[in-house]
Amino acid sequence: MTEERSPRSAALYARACRVIPGGVNSPVRAFRAVGGTPLFIARGAGAQVFDVDGRAYLDFVGSWGPLIAGHAHPTVVAAVTEALGRGMTYGAPCAAEVELAERIVAAYPAVEQVRLVSSGTEAVMSAIRVARAFTQRDLIVKFAGCYHGHADHLLVAAGSGLATFGRPSSAGVPEPFIACTRVLPLDEEAAVEELFVREGARIAAVIIEPVPANHGLLPQRRAFLQTLRKLTQQHGALLIFDEVISGFRLGRGGAAERLGIAPDLATFGKVIGGGMPVGAFGGARRVMARLAPDGDTYQAGTLSGNPVAMTAGLATLDLLSREAGWERLEALGAELEQMLQPVISAAPFPVHLVRVGSLFWLSLHGAGAPRTAATLTAAESARFAALFHAMLDRRIYLPPSAYEACFLSLAHGPSELTRLAEALRESLTAIA
Ligand SMILES: *Cc1c(COP(=O)(O)O)cnc(C)c1O
Repeated sequence: MTEERSPRSAALYARACRVIPGGVNSPVRAFRAVGGTPLFIARGAGAQVFDVDGRAYLDFVGSWGPLIAGHAHPTVVAAVTEALGRGMTYGAPCAAEVELAERIVAAYPAVEQVRLVSSGTEAVMSAIRVARAFTQRDLIVKFAGCYHGHADHLLVAAGSGLATFGRPSSAGVPEPFIACTRVLPLDEEAAVEELFVREGARIAAVIIEPVPANHGLLPQRRAFLQTLRKLTQQHGALLIFDEVISGFRLGRGGAAERLGIAPDLATFGKVIGGGMPVGAFGGARRVMARLAPDGDTYQAGTLSGNPVAMTAGLATLDLLSREAGWERLEALGAELEQMLQPVISAAPFPVHLVRVGSLFWLSLHGAGAPRTAATLTAAESARFAALFHAMLDRRIYLPPSAYEACFLSLAHGPSELTRLAEALRESLTAIA
């Protein structure tokens, strides 16, 4: 498929496979869930990416979240170019990191202090360490279907049924490393209550994506999240919102603002780097004070607070504020829903559109859009693979996995939505 679509991508992939495991530096890029081989991208502009053969695709991946302003936004590029001329890293404090920290603190009431890191994984890993230090407890609770990066103690798959003892979801993670992690199903207050009755005094933190967006899009009932808030408070545990996707995407104040629930700690990434590697974690001053150099909890990074990356993040957040970005993205999302609804209701098999702000997911679950981490049947997965390739043939670039959400950006507008709807109508018919 890729051979005909993009011969140069196929050639690069063959070269890549010799020197990079699986030919990619992050597994989902390899197209394993949909078959075929990946497109190599030479350039992005606005809502489009161009493969190395020069073919343009309308992009709904947005680099998996960071590109809320679209590819190569001129304002962001200009700011970054200017910053580059002043050097790429100092290993000493700079003004831009203070500005980005101030921006996050001003936007997110639960965050009084924030530390900047270089990825979402690092942000979560560090947030958990400081939560454990602060509470002087070891257990952490996560939910099946939520992704929090690839730190050892979070690579845990749910046990069978409602069992809270998970097993490593990756080779190379020793059982003892996950002995302090509990995994619960989403959407089930009773399971959380039961766990707190049993082990509440040992729980350091409950971590959740407040709008889970890494196993499809699984918006939770507000009451479920309120239960987490209440139980953690009652038992002296911390509530961590992993807002690496939702932070500064679902509004200035992220999912916390949308839901009206304040966590104790929050993690950020993706949008706050505007396409550069940036993560952050923050919370109440009394918790963050545990971090070195003031406190006893070690955390560091050679490139943390990198001046060029800070500049990309700041330029992106400025743009969002100046151009009423969040309001525009919400309106765009609503328009997308209106345009896709007639297409998917005429689909020859079940398709459900789930949308929260500028995030959306085409769920192919026959039983309807789930609220927990349900698995697609083999037939449903095969349908997604066919749909993905039919869309790619029509020059629409969707995430190459049935479980990944799609992203809208400020570079998308009515004409892009029309193209998406048309291509979807044709593709659904073509693969029926
Ligand atoms: C992407 C993501 C991470 C990990 O971030 P990286 O920058 O890929 O390490 C963590 N949590 C959530 C919710 C994410 O979506």
